[in-house]
Amino acid sequence: MASDCLFCKIAAGEIPSTRVHSDEELYAFRDINPAAPQHILLIPRQHVQSIAHLEDQHAAVMGKLMIMAGKIAEQEGFAEQGFRCVVNTGSDGGQTVDHLHLHLLAGRHLTWPPG
Ligand code: AMP
Ligand code: ZN
Repeated sequence: MASDCLFCKIAAGEIPSTRVHSDEELYAFRDINPAAPQHILLIPRQHVQSIAHLEDQHAAVMGKLMIMAGKIAEQEGFAEQGFRCVVNTGSDGGQTVDHLHLHLLAGRHLTWPPG
């Protein structure tokens, strides 16, 4: 755990969040400032800054994270209607929290391209 990382603290329960899923490797919770009617964040418990910092050792957990996104979409009832997964990365990518997270957005028609 990175001691000064917001999402490490959320995964550890040191900062409150609305939990959607929790297991040994992953944590999912509702975004505090939703950009869609459904806006869930999925994170690995292990601190990794971004996609640009992934190494081969992270392959298994990142695979599980993608699979969990689909499972949560099913559980939350929006898998059939559709959803979007986004991983903002770095400054130009709009990343504001430096702990890799996947945005799971649903509940409205999402336009393309993004801003
Ligand atoms: P990004 O801009 O891609 O780094 O996404 C960071 C996301 O974290 C934003 O959508 C924020 O609304 C969300 N966020 C920041 N602080 C919290 C928090 N304490 N609980 C839940 N979501 C948060
Ligand atoms: Zn972290």
